[in-house]
Amino acid sequence: MQAFDVDILVIGGGSGGVRAARLAAGYGARVALVEQGAMGGTCVNAGCIPKKLYSYAASYAHAFEEATGFGWALPTGQRLDWPTLKHRRAAEIARLNEVYEHMLATGGIQVLRGRARLADAHTVVIGNQQITAEHVLVATGGSASLPDIPGRELVMTSDAMFDLPQVPRRLLVIGGGYIACEFASIYRALGAEVILVHRGTGLLSGFDHDVREFLQGEMDADGIEFRFNATVREVQAEAGHRIVTLNDGERIVADAVLCATGRRPNTNGLGLEDVGVALTPDGAIAVDAWFRTSVPSVYAVGDVIDRVQLTPVALREATVLMDRLFGSGTFRMDYAAIPTAVFTHPNIATAGLSEAKARARFKRVAIYRSTFRALKHTLSGRATRTLMKLVVDSDTDRVVGVHMVGEEAGEVIQGFAVAMRAGASKAQFDSTIGIHPTAAEEFVTMRTATTMPDYDVPAVAG
Ligand code: FAD
Repeated sequence: MQAFDVDILVIGGGSGGVRAARLAAGYGARVALVEQGAMGGTCVNAGCIPKKLYSYAASYAHAFEEATGFGWALPTGQRLDWPTLKHRRAAEIARLNEVYEHMLATGGIQVLRGRARLADAHTVVIGNQQITAEHVLVATGGSASLPDIPGRELVMTSDAMFDLPQVPRRLLVIGGGYIACEFASIYRALGAEVILVHRGTGLLSGFDHDVREFLQGEMDADGIEFRFNATVREVQAEAGHRIVTLNDGERIVADAVLCATGRRPNTNGLGLEDVGVALTPDGAIAVDAWFRTSVPSVYAVGDVIDRVQLTPVALREATVLMDRLFGSGTFRMDYAAIPTAVFTHPNIATAGLSEAKARARFKRVAIYRSTFRALKHTLSGRATRTLMKLVVDSDTDRVVGVHMVGEEAGEVIQGFAVAMRAGASKAQFDSTIGIHPTAAEEFVTMRTATTMPDYDVPAVAG
């Protein structure tokens, strides 16, 4: 039997890679991990964490406004000290980088610094260092991609949005996905005038249509302008500004332009083609249900494969694979009903199917929908509203979709996602006692279907 330096070598110290390395070491494997940049990957350094911290910062803009409705006399002219926010975010990210380093070191994982490349099916090269492994896991994530338009060098990706010299007075956002919406919403609350340009007919394609329309209404009420069915023809620099010309000829002046139109998997320069690892037409690593590539010793998880690009998904994929390689082999990856949130203002969170997808899959679908002004806003004075929606397969009475637009939607939906995975029926939702007074109790008190009056509630014990 051939002797390898390690049992598994992981390329990439992001969400998927770090989880895989730690689990493999926990199973007793000899593990090495290679990272070319800051430990923690996209989520920690330029994704979920800094984005959520800025979303919290942005939420204070509304909180100050709301506090006066409850009798707080605040000094006027609250001002964001942008350098302080950037500095405090950077310090927290640096702390997290250290936590990751520490976890790997104390986990007995050999950490190698530099850019890795596969030399053969069991050998990885990092600079002038070479290491052999029985298994190689590619967890190199993805990067923002820019469209091929004149002036693309004048446009930023989301990576640059955390360290802008100042909050731009006028921000133009290109894209209608969750990253575009989140940054539009955050920078609007921080004081920028925001215009969002999207080639589609509405925001967040793939989400439930009510959720999409409702969020658009809320963002519109917040003062964000939209240009739908619009593409950018050209970006020019002029007197320190950007002039963005749209396909219909409209010229928009902005101080910063964010392009959030898509991400591509990090497969370049990894030597994958030389070793025979097959890619999908979009350049992602092609894997089977067990994350095996076309080369038996090479595996891939996370954003570098063409599945769902979310941190908890990368974590779960890594967990399933490590269990398969070193553990019981009983875990399975299930991509159904993955809950997700969008940290706009207000937040969106969703689990399961949109109404459209449910109607395509089931014969009879009942919809329960409620929009209301949350109790807090009766005094806060803000007109913002909350949307809650349940999608039910009428034949089985199973709840197949739970959707919310409103404060802390992610915190609310996480629990309902567990109920859905457990196969909860609408009758079980109905028989659950609400927590009063909350917004979330609406999910267990919506009795009348809004689109299917013939819905029959089956009897349920308790
Ligand atoms: P990554 O975390 O990207 O890690 C890959 C690592 O590999 C990187 O550290 C990279 O430096 C390293 N690497 C690449 N090539 C090499 C090489 N050749 N040699 C050595 N090292 C290499 N997800 C959520 O669940 N919730 C959110 O709210 C959320 N918000 C996001 C906001 C933004 C702006 C972005 C961009 C992403 C967000 N995501 C969010 C997605 C999430 O960050 C990713 O799904 C997740 O980080 C994927 O993990 P990964 O391990 O596949 O890759």
